[in-house]
Amino acid sequence: MISIVLFGPPGAGKGTVASVLAEQGYRHISTGDLLRQQIKAATPLGLAAQEALDQGQFVSDEIVLDMVRDYLQREGLGQRTLFDGYPRTLNQARQFDTLLADLNGRLATVVLLDCPDEVILDRISGRLICESCGAVYHRVHNPPQKEGICDVDGGKLIQRPDDVPETVAKRLEIYREQTAPLVDYYREKGILHVVDATQPLEQVCAAVVEGLE
Ligand code: AMP
Repeated sequence: MISIVLFGPPGAGKGTVASVLAEQGYRHISTGDLLRQQIKAATPLGLAAQEALDQGQFVSDEIVLDMVRDYLQREGLGQRTLFDGYPRTLNQARQFDTLLADLNGRLATVVLLDCPDEVILDRISGRLICESCGAVYHRVHNPPQKEGICDVDGGKLIQRPDDVPETVAKRLEIYREQTAPLVDYYREKGILHVVDATQPLEQVCAAVVEGLE
């Protein structure tokens, strides 16, 4: 399995870029989506994770590691897998290295979607997601064809509970403290590729693909 990690602050466009690349044959694993599915299905894991998500806090490293390992064991290793939102702490990055080594996988590239705060705040305040399939829209920059309705499956579009302003500020603070150190971790390994995520989506995707090649 060749793995690619997409990371960056909340709202940088990880999920949107990953969905575009998924159409080009990449497999997309989002730990945030996996957690939201567990919450929706009211599983024990979902019930345990809900409070952390609602408050913009991280769930424990062990929960996400188990979830990623289970996913890979269930779905098979496949080729060219994009990890979106994982790893997100230095400890997770080290656990991920061990997991990939156990599975004979390889982390080929880590893409940082670089984005300043004012762009993040604009993107998150307008973000809408489909309640049933998780597709992502923006009220102004990427509206659905029919207001409030998902183009993909007709599901209802909602604001993520953790996209309210107070929670976004908390998520940005946690990103700076816990996730930003991954920049140095992966730069030292020589696999970091930085992409300017303020460009139009097509250009961002092209720059990401260039980094993967
Ligand atoms: P995302 O959809 O990637 O923005 O993730 C939404 C929320 O899920 C985050 O704010 C965290 O509460 C939780 N989450 C997702 N991925 C992780 C992770 N790798 N480690 C810890 N918590 C995570």
